Order: sequence, then structure tokens, then C-alpha cells
Amino acid sequence: MLVSGWLMLPASSGRVRLSRGWLMIKGGVIEALGEGDAPGSADLGGEDAVITPGFVDAHLHLPQFDSIGQDGLPLLQWLSTVIFPAEIRWSDPAYAASMTRRVIERLIRAGTTSIAAYATVHHEGSVAAAEELSRSGLRAIVGQVLMDQQAPSELCRPAKKLIAEAAAFVDRVEALKNPRLMASINPRFAISCSRELLIGAGELVHARGVYMQTHLGETVDECELAVKLHPWAFDDAARAGDEGGYTRIYESARLLTEKSLLAHGIYLSAQERSIVRQRGCVVAHCPTANTFLQSGIMPRREYVRSGIITALGSDVAGGPDVSMPRVARAMIDGAKTLAGPAALRRGGIDGGEDDARIPTPARAWWQITRGNAEALGLMDAGQLKVGAAADVLVVKPDEASNWHAAPDPLGTLLYAWDDRWLKATVVDGRAV
Ligand SMILES: [Zn+2]
Repeated sequence: MLVSGWLMLPASSGRVRLSRGWLMIKGGVIEALGEGDAPGSADLGGEDAVITPGFVDAHLHLPQFDSIGQDGLPLLQWLSTVIFPAEIRWSDPAYAASMTRRVIERLIRAGTTSIAAYATVHHEGSVAAAEELSRSGLRAIVGQVLMDQQAPSELCRPAKKLIAEAAAFVDRVEALKNPRLMASINPRFAISCSRELLIGAGELVHARGVYMQTHLGETVDECELAVKLHPWAFDDAARAGDEGGYTRIYESARLLTEKSLLAHGIYLSAQERSIVRQRGCVVAHCPTANTFLQSGIMPRREYVRSGIITALGSDVAGGPDVSMPRVARAMIDGAKTLAGPAALRRGGIDGGEDDARIPTPARAWWQITRGNAEALGLMDAGQLKVGAAADVLVVKPDEASNWHAAPDPLGTLLYAWDDRWLKATVVDGRAV
């Protein structure tokens, strides 16, 4: 399959650039790529098309896509009022499967081709979701949610049973033998997990070498309750004068590795940040969710500068936007809000190598493609390059946007972005 247009190509130090060119897709891989005129008539794209890598979403919840927009509640009340009732519906595996099919369609229509996702506490429902993801061709990291306390009884299971199910979930995902589907262990967050469950999950993470997904430091209330519920985690730490906070709970349960995806991480002390950095964990920044639930703004600039690996996630349904370009815009908005008007007087936006001030549009496009892929360890994803996976979007921007004549076309494309511009989503080499 020959695709031509303006290619969004990797540039130096975490940016992208646009260049007219073409790429040849064969067997799920970008087999050849060139700048300049295409060597034949293109199957997809054309003169006015923009060709980007498929978007990577580092954090979302499959069972929450019908719960977008239930406003006005802080995190813990929103979970109990809106989210837990929605997740209870996944006790029926057929419902979980059909909902996952709808979610996949929604993701493809938004140009998202790779995800890190949560299912629910239901084992069969989670397996059904994994099977649907496997069939879809999307690249996914997915886990059964683990909860044994602080949630409705329908969503709590004994720790031992959950650990056995989580291990079986990994087995069942591995049995699908789909290199694009990876299992994770997903203790929801410290509040909804007992000590036994967290420690069991940590053992499983090390025994199986799989991804771990959880939430961390999203709201102040959550941090306080988590620390109150897990005094055991601080027994040794207190003696050492440690102020590791909420993060210490996961550290004590041996849940933190280079394959740990920690959503939010807004409220982390200096010591917690140092634990996260030393363990090489990924903080999945979810700016649209943080605004929606009025949780706060993650100090992304400080994290990036201190060497913490950050990714970007929609966190649907905490975040109301499925579309990653809109989540990327929210990342920039948050950085601008934190920096204040003074930053503009000091010289405007700056997407330097350490992301010194506010991410540029070129940086934002990189973040939702290659940046997120690298953070999630999806090394052949998120870029237009020979040998990379053929997860590619064909975009036809509205001519009226005049993006091509703009001083910063990447800025125009980001801020004028409209999902209706997306004309084809190529997943694993197939236009879907
Ligand atoms: Zn989440």
C-alpha cells in the first residue's frame, strides 16, 4: 500500500517535522519511505493529506466510555456515584465484549492505535475485552482491575482469588500469541487494595515480568486516605525519617519497575519523585481528567527536567476527550497556566530538550506518538520510519484552516484539529 502526503517525521530531541513524501506499507510494517514525489499513484493520501503515526493513549478505562461528562464531583465521590455502577455492568462478559467493540471503534475514529487500558475486576469480562482488542489489531496493554476494599461489594473480591485471576489473565492473554497485546497487573489504586492484595500483585509483577498500571497522587483526599489505610508501608520508612508518602505504599509492595505506569502523579513530594525516577516508572499525565475532576495540574515541567519519564493519557472517563490531539492541547494549556503570563514575557514557548518551559506543538505531536510509544516501551510504534509498525493516519485538514501557509503548521493542525479530518486509520498495515 502506497501512502503519500505531508509526512509527520521524527525530528531531533522529541519533536516532529512535516515533509512532503511517501511510504510503502507491507505486512504490517513501513517497508520503505521517502521524501519528495511518490514512486507511483498513491492508494491513500494525496497532495493535501497529512500522514501521521497513529496516536498512543497511555491511560484509559474501557468500561468508562459511556460515563463521559458526569460533572461536578471530586474523584472519590465520582468513582462511587458514576464509575463503580458502570463497571458493575461488566459482570456480564457478553456486555464487556460488546462494549469493548464499541470502544475500539471510537478509538479508531479518533486515530488512536495504541492504548494502555484498564478493564474491570471481572475476570471473564476482562478476558473478553482482551480477546476483542486482540481481534481488532489495536496495540494494547490491558489488565484486570484488582480491588478488595473501599468499593461496592459487587466489585470486591478476596485478595487470593484476585491474584490467582490476575495470573490467569496473563496466561490467557499470552495464549492469544498476539505480539500487539500485552497483559498488565492493575491494582486500581492503594485505596481499593488491601496490603495482601498489593503485595501479591507486586510478587506477580516480578514473577511474570509484566506491566503494572495503577493510579497515584491524583487528589489530596486520595493521598491522605491511602496513607491512612496503609500504615504498614511506613513501618521501616518512618524509622529512617522517610517521607515517601503515597508512593511508599507501592514501593513497599514492590510494584514499582520500569514497566509501571502511574496515572496522574500530581501530588508527589520530592522524595516520592525521587522514588519514581529511580525506579524508572512512567507517570501518565492526564490533563483533561485533572481539569474535569478539578484535581489540580501536574507539574510536568519539573518532572521532565528531573528525569521522570512522562507519558500522556486521555483517562476516559475521568477525561472527557478521546481525541489525543485535544489531550495534547490540554497538556500545553496546563503548562501555560502553571507558568503564568510572565513566561510569555520571558520569551514565549520553548520546547527545548529539557522541555524548559511550555511544550511546543511539535513537542505535543511527538508526545502523543513517539513520546508515548517510547514511554510505554512500544519501541516499533509511534513514528514514520522504515521498519516501524504500520499504524498510520491519513488526515485531510479543512482547506479553510490554511494550515499549510501558517507560520507554524503544526500549531494550526493541533489547535484546529477536527476528528472529521481523519480519513483513514491504518492499523497493523490494514486500513480500518
Ligand atoms: Zn484512570
